[in-house]
Amino acid sequence: MSDCLFCKIVAGEIPSNKVYEDDLCYAFYDIDPQAPVHFLVIPKEHIQSVSAVNKENSRVVSHIFEVIAKLADELNLKSYRVVSNIGEQAGQSVFHMHFHVLSGRDMTWPPG
Ligand code: 5GP
Ligand code: ZN
Repeated sequence: MSDCLFCKIVAGEIPSNKVYEDDLCYAFYDIDPQAPVHFLVIPKEHIQSVSAVNKENSRVVSHIFEVIAKLADELNLKSYRVVSNIGEQAGQSVFHMHFHVLSGRDMTWPPG
């Protein structure tokens, strides 16, 4: 999608600090980290949010969770949180589905 910030990051049109990449997904450090470790994992294909996941595109979601488990292992994350905000009220500001991976500090529950 031409007007999407994260599609531009996938295309290399906007620089990012890459953690991992394969044919289906791209992982990069958040520009405004909310924890000592904070990266995002996104599908290369433009999907607006979790609410747009369906039978046709859901394979990338299970793949992304395999990648998160692998990266967490490689980065030696003992405890971490995976978050996806859906819609503005929940805090979504970029409308290309992404999974935040946060680690390295105490976290509260419920979230604010
Ligand atoms: P959301 O608010 O949609 O759940 O998460 C979007 C995330 O993208 C935010 O945590 C924000 O800091 C991050 N972000 C926004 N613009 C950029 C950017 O240009 N580069 C990187 N690396 N992260 C960004
Ligand atoms: Zn996009």
